[in-house]
Amino acid sequence: MTARQADVVLVGGGVMSATLGMMLRQLDPSLDIVMVERLDHVAHESTDGWNNAGTGHAGYCELNYTPETDDGDVQIERALNINASFELSLQFWSYLVEKNILPEPSKFINPTPHESFVWGEKDVAFLRKRHEKLSNHHLFREMEFTESADTLREWMPLIMSNRDPNQPVAATRVKHGSDVDFGSLTRSMVDFLKDQPNFELLLNHPVKTLAQRDNGRWKVRLKDENTGETKKIEAGFVFLGAGGGALPLLQKSEIEESKGYGGFPVSGQWLVCQKPDVVKRHHAKVYGKAPMGAPPMSVPHLDTRIINGEPALLFGPFAGFTTKFLKQGSVFDLFSSVRGGNIVPMMQVGKGNMDLTRYLIKEVFQSHNARIESLRNFFPDAQEQNWKLQTAGQRVQIIKKSDDGRGKLEFGTEIVAAKDGSLAALLGASPGASTAVNAMVDVLERCFGDRLKTPEWQARIRELIPSYGQSLVDDAELLNTVRSRTLATLGLNKLKESEKEEA
Ligand SMILES: Cc1cc2nc3c(=O)[nH]c(=O)nc-3n(C[C@H](O)[C@H](O)[C@H](O)COP(=O)(O)OP(=O)(O)OC[C@H]3O[C@@H](n4cnc5c(N)ncnc54)[C@H](O)[C@@H]3O)c2cc1C
Repeated sequence: MTARQADVVLVGGGVMSATLGMMLRQLDPSLDIVMVERLDHVAHESTDGWNNAGTGHAGYCELNYTPETDDGDVQIERALNINASFELSLQFWSYLVEKNILPEPSKFINPTPHESFVWGEKDVAFLRKRHEKLSNHHLFREMEFTESADTLREWMPLIMSNRDPNQPVAATRVKHGSDVDFGSLTRSMVDFLKDQPNFELLLNHPVKTLAQRDNGRWKVRLKDENTGETKKIEAGFVFLGAGGGALPLLQKSEIEESKGYGGFPVSGQWLVCQKPDVVKRHHAKVYGKAPMGAPPMSVPHLDTRIINGEPALLFGPFAGFTTKFLKQGSVFDLFSSVRGGNIVPMMQVGKGNMDLTRYLIKEVFQSHNARIESLRNFFPDAQEQNWKLQTAGQRVQIIKKSDDGRGKLEFGTEIVAAKDGSLAALLGASPGASTAVNAMVDVLERCFGDRLKTPEWQARIRELIPSYGQSLVDDAELLNTVRSRTLATLGLNKLKESEKEEA
């Protein structure tokens, strides 16, 4: 059987592969690209609208991005970097909208105020300090803060209704926050790509193995589940954008850089409400503080969502423990990922994170009533019968050796690339899809570095991302220019009808 030759193989049809495929297509339309997906649809794992929270993570509302130090200070660097990263995504999506490659923006992104809400003296003091520090930076200058019950009732009527008037409460708000349907975004990108010359989409084609040949090219072996046939593709570059499936494939690649990595799967569930009279009373993403002992990704939040054009409210996530790496994966995934090189760090992480494991197991066995009680911390009048439980996507947190040689559990996203630039994998899931563009720029710099330095690619990448190569954290004027364009193009500065009436 002869192998099909290609320039690039993108493994997985989620937001990461689609973003990289789209960037490469825009940089060099002559590249021959094949996207291979094990399921019969793209964007059906973590990227699907119902499988993630759809928060355009910009650090506006996520309190875990601004940790409090022991002396009561608030560290804002992570929030600044995530905000600047998200601005890259907004620029790239704006370019695609302007070129009519992406549809009308409300099909995938909708303006949704990002709010943080806390109660109790201690947390109110933390939020006040957080606001003071963040709003002094140009990236966050529109952030508002209030402790007034009247203002809060305006910002979040559902949350304030029937709340104890003696409870100290406070909130911040950034009006131009967003709700993103990453599933719709990805399907639109792939729909465009699959109609282009030199782009092939293979659905129902799980990648089984991959190996690097002596000439440096990769031989990727996949199964055509439609016919049962085995196929081979040979390519100069392979991207493992397989979500939870990336770690096992990275291990199969046997590149030096893959050694020592392990994965810790965390599942999630939401409470979902689609009752129109409840849904229409809340228009925001309201994030609280994570309960003690909870992992950072289980910060509770009550969100307005627009998924496939339909509005809903979503509360959660309730984390859970599972041994699957993909929602539609196998219970043997975790055990099969154990190797000589990662068994020690994995065991160290298992032993050192018993609290986390206990927390996750407790979450799994929570009753519907207990979940509704957590919801009532946010929405005191919540009616049990209006909310149903739904399973979210899987996240595989990264386990790797830290500098002291011990295993460490990481909650971020990381690109692991071969030093010859012929293969890259994306591991981890936070901040996730929001920072897909920044992550894929990293892949381009590490794996297409020589081409990216050419005047042609330099000019092209600045068309796609005008702020490329400059710092939005340091340059206030650049941020102003970039942000006024993206907010206008993506409709994120549009007022809701009710706000128009108020104005
Ligand atoms: C509960 C939850 C909440 C989240 N909330 C947010 C949020 O609010 N904001 C945000 O920005 N991000 C969020 N994320 C993270 C975000 O969803 C992910 O970072 C993002 O979707 C990952 O995209 P991906 O393309 O890497 O992976 P996926 O979307 O998982 O895509 C990987 C694809 O690869 C395919 N695949 C796997 N193995 C193989 C194989 N062997 N061969 C071929 N194909 C294969 C899979 O079928 C899948 O289609 C959340 C995630 C979860 C789970």
